[in-house]
Amino acid sequence: MASNAELHLIERFLKLSGIKVIDYRIIEDIGIFLSLKNTKKQTICPRCGKSTEFLLHQNNFVTIRDLPWGEQAVYLKVNRRLLRCSHCHEKFSEDLKFVRKRRRYTKRFVEKIIEEVLNSDIQNVAKRNDVSEQEIETMLKDLGQELVKEKPINLKKLGIDEIAVVKGQKNYYVVLVDLDKRKIVGLIEKRREKEIIEYLEAWGKEVLSQIKEVSLDLWKSYKTIALKLMPQAEIVAL
Ligand SMILES: [Zn+2]
Repeated sequence: MASNAELHLIERFLKLSGIKVIDYRIIEDIGIFLSLKNTKKQTICPRCGKSTEFLLHQNNFVTIRDLPWGEQAVYLKVNRRLLRCSHCHEKFSEDLKFVRKRRRYTKRFVEKIIEEVLNSDIQNVAKRNDVSEQEIETMLKDLGQELVKEKPINLKKLGIDEIAVVKGQKNYYVVLVDLDKRKIVGLIEKRREKEIIEYLEAWGKEVLSQIKEVSLDLWKSYKTIALKLMPQAEIVAL
């Protein structure tokens, strides 16, 4: 049995709010398995929007991949319960802040993978992290869908980059990066000029006119797009 002091230390390293580490296990050559418990007592019902207590409908234990500790892979074992609302009686899956719905890896694991993909390619990152190329594509798609809903804030230096995806033939994602914050602010599945222009125009004049610098590959049509939509910005070769 793990001691309380050990569990407390692990909890501090783990840095996930609203959870408690209740046990851990190290399996040679596979990784560290941490059993977690959600400490939240109330949640918001996704249907009626009211605050409800956790009325258990069904347990649902899942294993979620997290950032590695050194060379060791880390897996979180958590009960993503099926709950019932005390007001409208609708059943819904427990919301855990650190992982997207129906996914088996934490949000911060996804961030690490995508950052690596930007500096390398999907095949190598998949191999290095023991995830499938398909999983990485799903991560990119999830992120892309989330980013569509928000506009970049205070974007001054924009980078336009690409991620190559092999799927029968070579496909590319266009990645828009806030270079000051080192954060992805847009992901476009097609590399065609029309789609990129539409995507950027959806940010609106307010966002585009604030951009002071655009870093891009000068050989691609990105330069034409930058000149058209952000004429005030200085263009820098990537
Ligand atoms: Zn409800």
